[in-house]
Amino acid sequence: MRKALKAKFILFGDKEPLHDYSVIINKERIEKIVPNSEIDKSAYTVINLGDSVLMPGFVNAHIHLELNWVRKKLTSFNSFSSWLEQIINLKKQNNNREVITQSVQQSLKETINSGVTTIGQISSYSGLDFEEIVKSKIRTVYFFEIANSTISRINQHFFKNLRSLNKKSNGMFALKLFPHSIYSLDTVTLEEILTKAHNEKINLGIHLSESKDEVRLIQKKKNAFEDVIFPILERRPRIKIRGNSPLSYLHKLNKYKSNIVLVHMNNLLKEDLKILEKQKYPVVLCPRSNLFLNQKMADLNFFLNYEKTGIGTDGLSSNFSINFLDEIKFLYLHSKRFIKKNPEKIVLEKATLGGARALGIDKLVGTIEKNKKADLIAFRIKNNDPFMSVIDSNNNDLKLSIINGEIIKSQ
Ligand SMILES: [Zn+2]
Repeated sequence: MRKALKAKFILFGDKEPLHDYSVIINKERIEKIVPNSEIDKSAYTVINLGDSVLMPGFVNAHIHLELNWVRKKLTSFNSFSSWLEQIINLKKQNNNREVITQSVQQSLKETINSGVTTIGQISSYSGLDFEEIVKSKIRTVYFFEIANSTISRINQHFFKNLRSLNKKSNGMFALKLFPHSIYSLDTVTLEEILTKAHNEKINLGIHLSESKDEVRLIQKKKNAFEDVIFPILERRPRIKIRGNSPLSYLHKLNKYKSNIVLVHMNNLLKEDLKILEKQKYPVVLCPRSNLFLNQKMADLNFFLNYEKTGIGTDGLSSNFSINFLDEIKFLYLHSKRFIKKNPEKIVLEKATLGGARALGIDKLVGTIEKNKKADLIAFRIKNNDPFMSVIDSNNNDLKLSIINGEIIKSQ
């Protein structure tokens, strides 16, 4: 039977909220939105959410589910390179399947409890996370991470497997390649990944412009990658050409004009603006992660007005929590200086539709619209303004979460 979700407020991106309406769900899709007074109770299973705000589910567009275990082991650091040095050494020590699987389980629980219905997951352990993700029923854009040492795994067999997984997943899984960063890959390896992705018609993502040292490396200035990081790697990455900025370097290599999700971009340079304007690369901001790593915040004045901006928590290796509500509260507080009118609406739009656009799935999710997939969440009302109410919410206020038409959580 079709479901009718009744709520006091329904949020539509940055448009005015609807008051006392219901969303009708037929199987996994949104069928229509009707006034509560027109609901024929015999035709639907009515779920009355009472005093609550119903909205599209959150999109955490950048997360590392597998890295929770790192948090406990991190010691104090005062620069990006001293953090990265620790991460490289910790990763060398831990390949314990059980620890990583536990990390994935914990991350998924916290993710779903904070209202997230889609994740942009960076998978770094050859698919160890896959089974847990499927079990959790969360919608996933799955970025398969590639390093210099793992490029050989990306062969015909790999793509064949990916394609069959994609078919089976009924739109719940979208697969992309994730070259880790420009500082960890040889130029030729990065070119090879771009060519393979183009040949297989797969899109990509990358960590980009995350630190000042990354900018200096690509500009051929003195930097901590060459001084501190490269000497502890098995082999120094061979960066053949340079550029004015990390994005101009990547853009030069991106001969096929593939769609690449740029994660971070908190060191935005003048030349980047022209490239973004022309190529419209999607961008994911991870504001707390940038401060955690002693870096500056992204240019919110620019990115909160950029269409394809999503928000991510990053992993627990570079944040105090992967709770998405924590991330949007933080972003809201920092946005108020730049967005004079209704920053709460803009932040919630980036947390939903913006993330869906960044991940290339905005035709499926990100808004409450007829024929879109029913990925919906409802929060108890805490404030007369429904937008502020959501910004002010915690896990305990989440009354309902539906992914692909199925109730995942209700309380
Ligand atoms: Zn990351």
